[in-house]
Amino acid sequence: MDRDLVLLSLMRKYEIEGIECQKALALSSRSSFKIGGKADLAVFPKNDSELEYVVAYLMDREIPYIVVGNGSNILFEDEGYRGCVIFTEKMNEVAVDGNRVTAGAGVSFTALAVTAKNASLTGLEFAYGIPGSTGGAVVMNAGAYGGEVAEVLESCTLYDAEKCELRTLRKDEMDLSYRHSIFFENKNLICISATFTLKDGNKDEIDAVMRDLMQRRRSKQPLEYPSAGSVFKRPAPDMFAGKMIEDSGLKGYTVGGAQVSEKHAGFIINIGNATASDVLGLVKHIQGVVRQNYGVELECEIRRVGCGE
Ligand SMILES: Cc1cc2nc3c(=O)[nH]c(=O)nc-3n(C[C@H](O)[C@H](O)[C@H](O)COP(=O)(O)OP(=O)(O)OC[C@H]3O[C@@H](n4cnc5c(N)ncnc54)[C@H](O)[C@@H]3O)c2cc1C
Repeated sequence: MDRDLVLLSLMRKYEIEGIECQKALALSSRSSFKIGGKADLAVFPKNDSELEYVVAYLMDREIPYIVVGNGSNILFEDEGYRGCVIFTEKMNEVAVDGNRVTAGAGVSFTALAVTAKNASLTGLEFAYGIPGSTGGAVVMNAGAYGGEVAEVLESCTLYDAEKCELRTLRKDEMDLSYRHSIFFENKNLICISATFTLKDGNKDEIDAVMRDLMQRRRSKQPLEYPSAGSVFKRPAPDMFAGKMIEDSGLKGYTVGGAQVSEKHAGFIINIGNATASDVLGLVKHIQGVVRQNYGVELECEIRRVGCGE
């Protein structure tokens, strides 16, 4: 059957099942970069059973899909996505049980830090200000200011789309390392929820740390512009991509609407109507200059979401 007809019938089916979906969704509206063409279909499951249902249906019909949290570490391509983008934002339940906090994949990671603080639990302060979802943070092993997911994560419940089963993995089974997790090598795994083990703390002290970290972000990062945060990974624990880019004289270097931030050279900002090709052109230029100056290959931290075919 024609792809458009399959998608249309999928949409009807989801609507009948009460699963929210939208046709021709502009991915730019769901990307912190404000870049990207349209997705044929976007689906917003509310829980693991809806998600399983959606994924099984797509797999049966060989429709490509991708799971997206808050789109804060993604460069959606200008051509958009020929298939279905599954957004986790409605999978947003949180439960606090003693010193353990469990959050659905779609829970804002910053909001989770606030929940932990309100329960006088310490350990997630670093998450405050990371603009992603909990699922995205686990997938990316997100971290900041000396903290990272791997330090506080206890386990992750995931859906294995290939085996059609839900599994809970302990942290040590998740291949967590710097901005890396088991999800990178296995595209069939979808993070459903994550449990964090925290420590008893003092609410005012936790609050003070969180405010301090947010202040540091505001003073160092170009938060007034759309971006996807640091574009490149640190090439080594003691090497910083931003410093190499700055020392290469690339601050302010511009391709189309994409620019190396004057405030933080590790960020590429969208200064107005940037396209994914502008960003990719700039990434290539930066990589070339840094390779020439330092003999170092900068690897992208941001994930590129292609056209889906
Ligand atoms: C201003 C700014 C500051 C930032 N600061 C930091 C920082 O300090 N530290 C840091 O680590 N990052 C930072 N980031 C990057 C980003 O916020 C993090 O990587 C965040 O964890 C991504 O979460 P997300 O929900 O937006 O993921 P998305 O961008 O939606 O997705 C990222 C990747 O994870 C996959 N994915 C998302 N959810 C799931 C799921 N449930 N199951 C399977 N795969 C999934 C996607 O397919 C994609 O490959 C920053 C970004 C911005 C814009």
